Amino acid sequence: MKRSLIACSVLVSSLQFESTALASNQQVKDERPNIIFIFADDHATQAVSAYGSEIANTPNIDRLAQEGALFRNCFATNAICAPSRAVVLTGKHSHMNGVMTNAEVFDGSQQTFPKLLQQVGYQTAMIGKWHLKSDPTGFHHWEVLRGQGPYYNPQMMTSDGVHKITGYTTDIITDLSLDWMEDQRESGQPFLLMCQHKAPHRNWQPGPEHLNDLDEMEIQEPPTLFDDYAGRASGAANQEMTIARHFFPSDVKLEPPGNLTPEQLARWNEAYESKNEAFRQADLQGDDLTRWRYQRYLKDYLRTVASLDDNVGRILEYLDKTGLAEKTVVIYSSDQGFFLGEHGWYDKRWMYEESARMPLLVRWPSKVQPGKKFDHLVQNLDFAPTFLELAGVSIPADMQGESLLPLLAGEQTESWRNSIYYHYYEFPGVHAVPRHFGVRTDRYKLIRYYQLDEWEFFDLKNDPDELKSVYDDSEYAPVIEELKHELIRLQGLYVDPQPKE
Ligand code: CA
Repeated sequence: MKRSLIACSVLVSSLQFESTALASNQQVKDERPNIIFIFADDHATQAVSAYGSEIANTPNIDRLAQEGALFRNCFATNAICAPSRAVVLTGKHSHMNGVMTNAEVFDGSQQTFPKLLQQVGYQTAMIGKWHLKSDPTGFHHWEVLRGQGPYYNPQMMTSDGVHKITGYTTDIITDLSLDWMEDQRESGQPFLLMCQHKAPHRNWQPGPEHLNDLDEMEIQEPPTLFDDYAGRASGAANQEMTIARHFFPSDVKLEPPGNLTPEQLARWNEAYESKNEAFRQADLQGDDLTRWRYQRYLKDYLRTVASLDDNVGRILEYLDKTGLAEKTVVIYSSDQGFFLGEHGWYDKRWMYEESARMPLLVRWPSKVQPGKKFDHLVQNLDFAPTFLELAGVSIPADMQGESLLPLLAGEQTESWRNSIYYHYYEFPGVHAVPRHFGVRTDRYKLIRYYQLDEWEFFDLKNDPDELKSVYDDSEYAPVIEELKHELIRLQGLYVDPQPKE
């Protein structure tokens, strides 16, 4: 027993010696960190327990907050899928990178941060949801969903063509990411991995392991589920994104997905048939029907989040197991937030809080203080400059964001921005949300619906749910005037001329 312990300790010290020698060799070669960017689609902070969610349990994502930093006030510049992705890649607002709505094709010949990382020797990969229509550029390896991609059995596109993989997409994107990282480990070069999920995007199809999660639970309703839209500009009442009136049967799983294998379909039907039969028997109407739809929607959304969280756990476990964790920055975010029943809605698009706010967690062992929380106003615009600075690359002057590194390093940040600019363009369009731009400070939000010639102004301290615009309240006239000037200043700074209509 004693002898084997001694032998064991000799072995451990010789292993330690080897790994130290190896580490110092690598340090001479390269001290730059790996970057893993895990990007969800439509994952609202209301469904991340690290953000205080009362309805979600996300232990693996929370681990990033415990071991790293959490940004409470990270906002999209334009809260919709493709535009947010283009902002992340370029560090520029939508009107500068050319993707203002989900309709435009991303011009892949333009400057992006992955290309700049490639130039300084990073290995780069894009795996999962791309959603920018043109082929990815700036990546040594890419394997992406076609368009939105399905939850099950996705067709994946690569530079060699298209192939189909059987299984659950959230698991598959992680499998492919782990395989790619495994291939990279030998090279000793730092890498950038963009692991981009479809989940928890509409229409919220749970994975096989989570189909019966929450079956016995009642999900808490938000206080604004039955919002009457009084006190807001006309767009709030005229949108088409209510739980009450704008769901398809497939959204609430009264029909199964059309692309399942026989085994997947059998498992699906086992989970949903009895629930759906109970619903048909109940013959619900009016608010009761809305309540049922809310429960079905939220449970399915949270089930897809559960798979997402499992798969974040798989990445973190791999980093621990391989010793990569120490020299790898892990970022978790989502392209925007989402309404989880607030104002009676699903979807996003608005400059309102639930839609524009993004989760942002950053773990960088021994560099970022564990458990740190930031209230600074930051945006997806800041991601590209941050990733470049992490890699020691100077930030091009035409990028419009700011590196978050000084914040993460705990430096004095008194000069940090005190307002952010927002501009949403997709109207006419699905969900009928009018075009708007606006400015948000730590306390106030001013929104201009320029096609409608309407304004909204919210005091977020007194009205965090944004239920009553106080644009016409004379008490606020001076601060509204100030914010109008700030809006013009930001439009000048970002070179976004005020549209006429
Ligand atoms: Ca999205």
